[in-house]
Order: sequence, then C-alpha cells, then structure tokens
Amino acid sequence: MSLINSDAVIGVIGAGTMGAGIAQVAAKAGHTVLLYDAFKGAAQRGLEGVEKGLLKLVQRGKMQQDDVDTLLSRITLTDSLEGFAPARVVIEVIVERLDIKQSVFSQLEEICADDTILATNTSSISVTAIGSKLKRPQNLVGMHFFNPAPIMKLVEVIRGLDTDPAVAEAIYDLSSRWGKSPVRAKSTPGFIVNRVARPFYAEGLRVLQEGGADAASIDGIIREAGGFRMGPFELMDLIGHDVNFAVTSSVFAAFFNDQRFLPSLIQQELVSAGHLGRKSGKGFYDYSEHAEKPAVSTAAPAPAPHHVAIEGHLGVAESLVPLIEAAGIKVSRVQEGHGSILIGNTTLQLTNGLMTTERASQANNSNLIQFDLALDYTKATRIALAPADQTDPASLLQAIGLFQAVGKNVTVIDDVAGMVVMRTVAMLANESFDAVNQQVCSASDVDVAMKGGLNYPFGPIEWAKSVGLSSILNVLDNLSASYGEDRYRTSPLLRRNVAGGNL
Ligand code: NAD
Repeated sequence: MSLINSDAVIGVIGAGTMGAGIAQVAAKAGHTVLLYDAFKGAAQRGLEGVEKGLLKLVQRGKMQQDDVDTLLSRITLTDSLEGFAPARVVIEVIVERLDIKQSVFSQLEEICADDTILATNTSSISVTAIGSKLKRPQNLVGMHFFNPAPIMKLVEVIRGLDTDPAVAEAIYDLSSRWGKSPVRAKSTPGFIVNRVARPFYAEGLRVLQEGGADAASIDGIIREAGGFRMGPFELMDLIGHDVNFAVTSSVFAAFFNDQRFLPSLIQQELVSAGHLGRKSGKGFYDYSEHAEKPAVSTAAPAPAPHHVAIEGHLGVAESLVPLIEAAGIKVSRVQEGHGSILIGNTTLQLTNGLMTTERASQANNSNLIQFDLALDYTKATRIALAPADQTDPASLLQAIGLFQAVGKNVTVIDDVAGMVVMRTVAMLANESFDAVNQQVCSASDVDVAMKGGLNYPFGPIEWAKSVGLSSILNVLDNLSASYGEDRYRTSPLLRRNVAGGNL
C-alpha cells in the first residue's frame, strides 16, 4: 500500500457535525475533496457551516481571506455516490447504524477502484462488523476524529480483524500529515478514548451517589485540584445525558456486562426524566435564565498552625513542603514514617484508597485526615480533605487552616474510599493499563489519545507514573477491598509493572 499523496482525491460521505469538519481538514491539507450527503441540501449546509467557521477565523486575524477561498474551492459537492469514483480515500461520516454503513460501503466497492481506502468515522461500531459484509474488508479502516474535527488533534486509527495493516498505516500517515496526532488501536468496544474515559464519569457518579460531595463540589475538586478543564457533571451536561448514557451502556453491553463499565442509576434517572443537560435546560445543573450555578463547598477560614512535623517522604505531595515553609510555618522533619504531616496530634496523609475511618482505625489514630491528589500541589487552588468519623472537629480545623495558609480553598468531603481526584486518576490509569494489556494499543498511544481527544491535562499512564505506580496499585487494591466489587479489580499489567520494580 503506497502512501496517500497530497494530490489524492478524498471523498467524505455525510456533511453533518463531523463530516463537514473532516472535509475542511482534508481541504486545508491541499486535497481535492468530494462531499456528499443523502439528504437534500445537507451537503450545501455543511459547506456553508465550514465557510462560516473560516470567516470567523478571518475576522479574528487567524486566517487570510485568500486562503479561505482556496480551501473552499477545493471542496466539490457531489449528488450521488457515483461521484466518488476518482477518490483515493472515502471517509464515511453518516448516521451511527451498522446496516446503513455496511450498505454504503458495499455500494462504494462497486463504484471505486479496488484499492480505494474506505474509512469509517464510527465512534462505537466494530470496524470488523462493518467490514464483514464487504468484498474487500482489508481496505476498510476506522478513522475516528473528535469533535470539532478541525480543532481536536486526535485521530484513532482502528484496525478491524481483516484490515490490511498497510491500509491502517497509510491512514495513520495521512492523519499525521493533516496535522493530527494519530494513534493506533484494535477494533474493541469504545476503542481507546471512549473506553478509558468511562471512569472519569463513573467515579464522579459513585462519589455523588454515596453522598461524598455534591455535583458542584466534585466538579470544583476535579477542575481546581485535578487540573481537568471540566468536572464530570459539567461535562456530562454538555455532552447530553442521553448520549453519554448510551455510550456507557453500549460499552458495558459490548464487554458482556463487565462490571468495570456498569452504568449509573443516577444518570439513567436523568435520562428517564428528560433532564438531558444543557440542551434540555436541566441536567445536574439548571440552565434556565436566572438560575445560579451552585457554589463549590468551601471551608470557612481557620487559623494557620505555627509548626508542622513531617514524617517520612510525602511522595507526589512533597511539593507542599516548600509551600508550607514559604507560608511562615515552621517545619521539622524526621526520616522515618510513611509520609505524614503532623499538626500537634492531628495526622494528615495523602489518600491511599481506604476510607479515612478505616485507615484511622487500622492505625489506631483517631485524628487522621486524608487529603486528595492534586495534579500539581503548587498550582492547585483547591484541596479536598476527608476526616475519619472519629476525628476530633478541632483537628479538622487545624488541617483546614494549614491548606488555607498555603493558598488553597478547602473542600471537606464525606468519607469515601479514594476521595475524588485520586480514585478518578487511579481508575483511568487502571483502564489504560488494561487496554494496553489486552493489546488494544500502546501505553504511549493511550496518553496521546486522552490528551488529544479529551484535553486531559496529563495522560493516565504518565500521571500514574508521576504519582508512583506502586501507590496507584495500593489505591486500587484498597478500593477493591473497600467495595469488594469486580469494578475495582486491578489490571494485571499494572501489578506486573510494580512487581518488576517499575514503581
Ligand atoms: P450528524 O447527524 O451531524 O451528520 C450525519 C450526516 O450524515 C447528516 O447530514 C445526514 O444527512 C447524513 N446521512 C445519514 N445517512 C446517510 C447516508 N446513508 N448517506 C449519506 N449521508 C447520510 O452526525 P455526526 O455527529 O456528524 O456523526 C456522524 C458519524 O460520526 C457517526 O458515525 C458518529 O458516531 C461519528 N462521530 C460523531 C462525533 C460527534 O461528536 N458528533 C464524534 C466522533 C464520531
């Protein structure tokens, strides 16, 4: 399979949200693009949408009018599938239905050359299943763009069972030359992004379901401590609960009801009630005109301590130490210990995945408070704390005062295992290791995919490494012990890495 040259003709079928954007990407890269839509006027509307978007770039000084004209002149509308005869690659971007996609590709096989590459932008249908009805399934490959296609960097290049590896490589190479960050994946449910992202929503929903914190506070913690652009509830409201619930349910069913992907009753209730998020005016939040967004729960000011003692190394939270010193709080250190910050008889520890109440009981230390993971403790503007049931309220005030002294807002959550950011990151990493272990993709491609497809601040595997794989494994083992659910079973590849000394 030879490379796809920049003068190759690219066909795009379906001129909706994604198809129009993909046509724009191909035209920008210099290709002649043929655009078709089965519904009258839809291709023209798609093209006008592209033009409107480009004109905004001209108004903002980001593009020249000449370049817009050149780009648009490369896109030709065609009114039948026969128009795709000269195409070197045809990208299908139509309704998400297996039978319709199979039928369109079967027709294209009769129209196009024998070596034309047929690519599908499906987000959830098996590429193998689409190819099963084709005469030349080796020419079919998944080319999964993210919305909006001209902006999002990621393209998942998906190999079905019969896809010729050279076809997949040609599309990988083409995507790179279109300025994208492609990744390679095997056709499995959810591919990379829609599989690995499930815990981002699921863990937030579990914390909410267990009363750990309200939706606004979980979102606030995920954004301001976790460094994500949006919290899970804001994001689900934006995506639409019908869409998000359908993806979760389809991944769950496609993995034969693996409990890892169990959908949430909370989300099902929202869908049943028609509370679909922004588009219906109500989801986790109320979007009606005068509705105020609920505040993130924030602790009232508490006095700063004068002195703290640090036992052992704080690991990923070690960067708190200079902050504490800079706040004028005296720090004394002892080498021994498991990473604790002591304020008098109050002990603060980074969550290890156990409920604080259980950890305090095991340590015979009733004044234990756990703090949550932050992407970067120096930059985080919020920290979550979880006291044990037996913690003295005066101890909690000391802990709050310490974090406020280093410039953080503090959200006190109820005692849920693994808190908020830590359990989310640990489960994202766990799913990533499982995808790699099951030969879906490489470890580096998971990280590229989650950053490029969903704007995660860090790839889950690189994030887990920065926390320490042994710490992440410990969190997962403790979550598993706390819940006793198959959902929290640890990936064998993560366990193997730790056993092999990759801590
Ligand atoms: P859309 O509804 O906005 O657009 C689909 C277009 O395809 C419509 O214009 C429709 O008229 C046309 N169409 C439907 N059946 C057709 C047929 N048989 N022949 C030709 N044209 C036909 O949908 P979309 O959001 O652009 O999604 C299209 C595909 O891309 C789906 O497979 C979807 O799963 C996938 N996808 C969507 C997103 C997203 O965020 N919207 C992201 C990645 C992948």
